[in-house]
Amino acid sequence: MEGSNRLTRNIIIALILGLLLGFVFNFFAPDFFADYLNPYILYPLGTLFLNLIKMLVVPLVLISITLGVAGLGDPKKLGRIGAKTIGFFLVTTTVAIVLAIAVGYIMKPGASGNFDTSNAQFEAAEAPSFVDTLLAIIPTNPIDAMSTGNMLQIITFAVFIGLALAVLGDKTKGILNLFEQANEVMMYLVHLVMKLAPAGAFALIASAVGKQGWDAFQVMGLYFIAVLVALLIHVVVAYGGLVSFLGKMNPWKFFKGFTPAMSVAFSTSSSSATLPVSMETAQNNLGVPKSVSSFVQPLGATINMDGTAIMQGVATVFIAQVYGVDLTMSQLLMVVLTAVLASIGTAGVPGVGLIMLAMVLKAVNLPVEGIALIIGIDRLLDMTRTAVNITGDAACAVIVAKSEEKHTTTDSNQGVSV
Ligand code: ASP
Repeated sequence: MEGSNRLTRNIIIALILGLLLGFVFNFFAPDFFADYLNPYILYPLGTLFLNLIKMLVVPLVLISITLGVAGLGDPKKLGRIGAKTIGFFLVTTTVAIVLAIAVGYIMKPGASGNFDTSNAQFEAAEAPSFVDTLLAIIPTNPIDAMSTGNMLQIITFAVFIGLALAVLGDKTKGILNLFEQANEVMMYLVHLVMKLAPAGAFALIASAVGKQGWDAFQVMGLYFIAVLVALLIHVVVAYGGLVSFLGKMNPWKFFKGFTPAMSVAFSTSSSSATLPVSMETAQNNLGVPKSVSSFVQPLGATINMDGTAIMQGVATVFIAQVYGVDLTMSQLLMVVLTAVLASIGTAGVPGVGLIMLAMVLKAVNLPVEGIALIIGIDRLLDMTRTAVNITGDAACAVIVAKSEEKHTTTDSNQGVSV
């Protein structure tokens, strides 16, 4: 069996074993799980893997976006790819949220059932203003942006450096070489860390499932299923369709090739931590040129979150139903708009999508405390939506790469050398 197939198979087996182990201990030996198994074995192993991939994220984003932009050569090409990428992100996220609202109305997860809203409490943090959010994209101190892991600011800085390298050409050849070699080093390290992926995924899943309280599921089951249904439809119909029509790639090949990254996203619940793996997988298994992958995927892991938008859409409809509020058409449009913005603003780390949901609820005057109802079962949904989030980025990368083929025949940064 080929290396990457073997890895995919091992990760999937590890996920299933982790799920089983988590369930078994949660039901039969929760105390042993909480006192020994999780703190001494699962948690350390899972965190070891997570930290190892997180270690690579900041340098990888800086290096790969700089190289990606420098490799695009002229600013016109950057503008073209940038416009296509952002256009794709906005359209698919809007489709995702409309779909989620429709599923919410059809399945009515909050219309029946006994939801105890009397103790529901949730303090929403103040969301920053729109202008401040836009201005904050430019780092006043790039080193600070890197040390705090502010992805959008790192991306902006890298785009500027990349542009400068492209314009200065031969004068800065040395720095370009340095970045190219640093990129090789990073990719080698991603490869190395991925060898631990089955063990890491196993520990992370077993730990998350074992800790899960299942009581919430009895009342929240329909909400849970509604989110999963919307996620599944979006992945199969929107991504499968777009990859096949615009990307001219067999959807089966796409999903199969991208499975290692999806499983890592599923076990880590973090688009940002999964980024090194998603890029490597898209370049190696889906044949996306480095210049496209390096630009589209880091940006997508930061701002393109269709899975999160879907959760926010279903959750809004659910909370409206629980509190007996009828949303008007203009309120629904408001939900679409704010959920698109909220998902753009969601950082690619566990659980943030739920916090950003407060912004959507506030926009249409729904009780923010409703979030307390869904918090109990959000961990498992977070895993699933994170896998969807990064699949959207990869679909975009495949499609942009295809559409660029007619423009580029001599892009020196193309091809896969990992
Ligand atoms: N965990 C998600 C991600 O990293 C974000 C969220 O929806 O909470 O993509």
